[in-house]
Amino acid sequence: MTAPVRAPLMALDDALHALLSHALPLTDTESVATFDAVGRVLATDLVSALQVPPRDNSSMDGYAVRVADLPEAGTVLPVSQRIPAGHAGEPLRPGTCARIFTGAPMPEGADAVVMQEDTREVGGDFHAVHIDAIPQPGQWVRRAGEDVTRGSVVLARGVRLDEAALGLAASLGLAHLTVTRRPRVALFSTGDELVMPGEVPPEAMPPGAIYNSNRFFLRALLQRFGCEVSDLGIVPDRREATLAALKTAADHHDLILTSGGVSVGEEDHIKPAVQQLGELALWQIAMKPGKPFAYGHVRRDAGAGADVAGRCHFIGLPGNPVSSYVTFLLLVRPFLLQLQGVADPSALRLPAAMRLRADFAVPRADKRREFLRARRNAQGGVDLFPNQSSGVLTSVAWADGLVDNPAGTTIAPGDVVHFIALADLLS
Ligand code: AMP
Ligand code: MG
Repeated sequence: MTAPVRAPLMALDDALHALLSHALPLTDTESVATFDAVGRVLATDLVSALQVPPRDNSSMDGYAVRVADLPEAGTVLPVSQRIPAGHAGEPLRPGTCARIFTGAPMPEGADAVVMQEDTREVGGDFHAVHIDAIPQPGQWVRRAGEDVTRGSVVLARGVRLDEAALGLAASLGLAHLTVTRRPRVALFSTGDELVMPGEVPPEAMPPGAIYNSNRFFLRALLQRFGCEVSDLGIVPDRREATLAALKTAADHHDLILTSGGVSVGEEDHIKPAVQQLGELALWQIAMKPGKPFAYGHVRRDAGAGADVAGRCHFIGLPGNPVSSYVTFLLLVRPFLLQLQGVADPSALRLPAAMRLRADFAVPRADKRREFLRARRNAQGGVDLFPNQSSGVLTSVAWADGLVDNPAGTTIAPGDVVHFIALADLLS
């Protein structure tokens, strides 16, 4: 008898590519207050209806002058007006200067600002000043439109709005922004061993029971990446219950995200249930942790308000907490960003890795590409968390990055490794 031939596992890059080919951006948009738009993805180009700043203005507290009125350092000019921010001055009388403050519009005729520190008042009452440094034309003047010109695309469709972008949108006078609607995600955990914190105290946990940790980080990660989450709790390890949960969730969501139950054991009901209600397009990836990752779709009941061609995306994450966490960051994150219309291709790839020195050893090579939980140290190298088991969530909480180690590669102290910062995967 010959042993069955096992198909090789899919490479991570191929899996990501395949996954993204299914993540068609949502077409529904909504208007949100600019105040509430951080993390949302612009659905239209923002075109400026005005110049920013609207007029030439001073970037210093000092004196607005005509450079031609200043033959030499120390020249005395009478102060003919005072222009605070928010006020328009008069045209500048030749042979005089204007007291001016940061942000105040330049008076007509003035072509430079002399900062206060380069002047001395004559007498005690600001009627005239010595100009001690001759300015270049344009000195300390912010030009109208130097930040934004009228009619220009300031932020393009597909930009994920960060705090600076909110400020920029506000500087154009926009109180509301049109963004892609949030993906609606149904989250459930599988596993009869799971108990919710708060339901049973640690000392009363029955044998074999563990607390449901995945539910906590998965819900928070989904929210971080812009999703509206329906947390459907824990689904028991039974075929009927799994089918019922998938069916109900598919009708009202864009994505069903599960954890656990997607391996090959007879208690793993997710895979056959998805195959019964839809199709599995991807299953098992050549990575460690994270091999039992699955992607597919679940058909919706006809007429259930389906907006993605009658099917709901399905992603099954491994049950082991570290596997679940890492596959979320490497695969689900780009999937969700693309679903929301993020245009920047670099947001949809693995973040660029830093080349850093290993201050540890991995003497035994693995057949799969590994993502080792690691942390930068004060000596410019990288330390490894001692226990790399996929059940040890402490490793992720301790780490500030993942060492991306190619399949079949050992690591000796001093070797250069590829380090991906967790901060880049969480942004
Ligand atoms: P499974 O993929 O269902 O075979 O689960 C793999 C391992 O992950 C088992 O040890 C489970 O007990 C554990 N596990 C599954 N789901 C969770 C969860 N939500 N929180 C913590 N551990 C889990
Ligand atoms: Mg299980």
